[in-house]
Amino acid sequence: MESKENNHPESASIEPVKLDIDSEIQFHCHKNVKCFTRCCRGIRITLTPYDIIRLKNRLDLSSEDFLAIYTTPGLLEKTDLPLVTLKLLDDDLESCPFVREDGCLIYEDRPTACRYYPLGAASLSHKEGADDQGFYFFVHEPHCLGFEEEKLWTVKEWRKDQGVDTHDEINAEWTDLIVRKRSFPATIQLTEKSKQLFFMTSYNIDQFKRFVFESTFIERFSVDPETVEAIQEDEIALLKFGLKWLKETLFQHKDLDAFKS
Ligand code: SF4
Ligand code: SF4
Repeated sequence: MESKENNHPESASIEPVKLDIDSEIQFHCHKNVKCFTRCCRGIRITLTPYDIIRLKNRLDLSSEDFLAIYTTPGLLEKTDLPLVTLKLLDDDLESCPFVREDGCLIYEDRPTACRYYPLGAASLSHKEGADDQGFYFFVHEPHCLGFEEEKLWTVKEWRKDQGVDTHDEINAEWTDLIVRKRSFPATIQLTEKSKQLFFMTSYNIDQFKRFVFESTFIERFSVDPETVEAIQEDEIALLKFGLKWLKETLFQHKDLDAFKS
């Protein structure tokens, strides 16, 4: 799910190495590596729901404006669920809009995929019933010279250092929903209405807030007063509530079509 995929031709033949949480990696990224910011160009960055909240707040934009200015819509592979990726600049190197000579302009709020890199998290990391330590892939791309540095980490230490745990915890219901949808036969398709609900709840928190508070939603789904207060005040609480609601609503119907009528 959390993917920062490199589009450079030399990366195509590299086989990722499978790791677990205690695997050791030799890697260090800092401003003096010759490849500094090389991985911020020609890439495809899938944005998670929490990434969008952090970025739109960092840029002082509504979620609608952030989506319109900074993202490209697509579909999550092996599902018909909508995703958004960071829109790259139309320059020769297809640069990330936030990369500068001296690094990342929004580093403290960088997306989940940028935090994982050069690790990739397998989408199984939140599969129900699976080992919650999950699987990781160390993508050893030739242009990345961080592997020549001598610093050693376990995957667990890397995750902590990069703040990945918080992102994964907030996105957990979203990740699980996608994993479960992937396991459904391809013949089971979502309706357009369900896809729109998935998009709004996952990526457009401002619209979802209006959907909850400017409709009969609270009465219709019997949301208790404590929860109403919490989600009114706190965007992260609203996001987590929304993702849980979305998953329960979609999966309580075998055809995933909760909103047909
Ligand atoms: S968001 Fe920051 S770290 Fe991620 S690709 Fe862009 S510049 Fe690089
Ligand atoms: S060492 Fe790797 S992760 Fe760090 S800037 Fe270079 S290419 Fe990017």
